Amino acid sequence: MLIWLLTLLVFQIANRPSHSARLRFHGDNNGPPPLDLDPDNMYNEQMLNTAQQGLPNCLTPRNVAVIGGGVAGLITALELSLAGHMVQLFEASNRLGGRIYTYRTPNGYITELGAMRLPLDQHLLLATYIKKRFGLPIKRFQHYNPNTVVYLNGITAPRSSVDLFPETFHFNVSDKEKGQTPWALWDNAIKSLLDMDDATRLRMYGAYSVQFYLMEVANLSRGAVDFIGFMLNLEADMYASIVEIARDFKLLPANANFSHIDGGNDLLINALAKACQTVPGGRCSLYLNRPITSVLYSSSSHSGTLESNGVTIPGNFTDIVVATTALAANAIDFRPRIKFITKYQALRQLNYDCASKIARSFSVRWWEKQVINGGHSITDLPVRLVYYYNFNTTSNRTEDGALMLSSYT
Ligand SMILES: Cc1cc2nc3c(=O)[nH]c(=O)nc-3n(C[C@H](O)[C@H](O)[C@H](O)COP(=O)(O)OP(=O)(O)OC[C@H]3O[C@@H](n4cnc5c(N)ncnc54)[C@H](O)[C@@H]3O)c2cc1C
Repeated sequence: MLIWLLTLLVFQIANRPSHSARLRFHGDNNGPPPLDLDPDNMYNEQMLNTAQQGLPNCLTPRNVAVIGGGVAGLITALELSLAGHMVQLFEASNRLGGRIYTYRTPNGYITELGAMRLPLDQHLLLATYIKKRFGLPIKRFQHYNPNTVVYLNGITAPRSSVDLFPETFHFNVSDKEKGQTPWALWDNAIKSLLDMDDATRLRMYGAYSVQFYLMEVANLSRGAVDFIGFMLNLEADMYASIVEIARDFKLLPANANFSHIDGGNDLLINALAKACQTVPGGRCSLYLNRPITSVLYSSSSHSGTLESNGVTIPGNFTDIVVATTALAANAIDFRPRIKFITKYQALRQLNYDCASKIARSFSVRWWEKQVINGGHSITDLPVRLVYYYNFNTTSNRTEDGALMLSSYT
């Protein structure tokens, strides 16, 4: 499981009378404190009020550039422009939304190629934007269906089976691991880790990978670790830090509820873009096909300029918000480079999981005839996970067909 948080790096060029540049971002000593990842403290009242009502009006309008037109960039552009700042957002591609990408066929089939399940019970900020600010309709995402299957080591068992145990699928496990579900094995293994406070967890296990922890600390067998890897979709994370993965599970427990926006998650992107276009005074401008390749900071004017493929974007910006992935930000030429050394280091050190989705179009939703309405099958085949989810909820007839997510790896 992964945490899906909005990534937002803020490179702020503060307009201070000092001669030295004041470049701040999350994590810098001078910047705001890092986000508290404890689910109970993550969102304070002020953040949720901002999501619902916007920021207070500004006293001194600033000239802001936002790089990246995903959900983070769009929310930034909207809030700052509504507060009175002049904002220009530059998106590299020909569409807004970034990793929120609802794919629609001409005959009305819909699938989500990016974010599809939104943990709105945990991600209160996103929930506030979707439900309260924009009043978008929400549907519960069906994660489980008893008639889907687990297919591992050539053996098929229905998800509803009471014996989803490692030995059912011929995993070589110890006697004490037999008769245990993968979730019970995992929960037992990480329970003490979850009970610790963040600092202790980091001090004791910060250098441990998931696999090393499971085998050396929790004393699980190789077979049990492999079984957990398949069933909890942790196979690709076995060499990730156990502390990070444990924190993911603390934020998003295995039984967390997920939702999606009825009609497509891009409805949030459309709502943000529309709200931006109606900000008074044309203070929120959105530009597509504008990859930002260089950011040039001038310490004499405490401002920055942008280039897109060698062409200078007109205007000086007092603040530049980089709302791309770290990988994309690392490809931007921030000048003078000497002032961005630690930021480049942070960007280089952030790793992303790869994800691929293959959607297939079917003229009949044959899986519904097998009473599979949602949920997913787990396999050790190259397709790994198959999701039977019809995102076009206005189409009620099985004969209407749909896009099925036939592989999610
Ligand atoms: C396959 C997949 C499945 C996912 N599933 C889920 C899920 O089920 N639930 C969930 O909550 N989250 C999920 N996520 C994560 C979620 O989609 C992201 O966390 C979220 O969309 C990130 O938004 P963002 O605005 O921070 O970044 P992005 O959406 O990545 O936006 C960054 C934008 O910056 C643009 N850009 C990059 N470089 C430049 C440049 N130099 N100049 C100008 N523009 C630039 C990009 O084109 C992009 O539009 C998934 C992601 C993927 C890829």
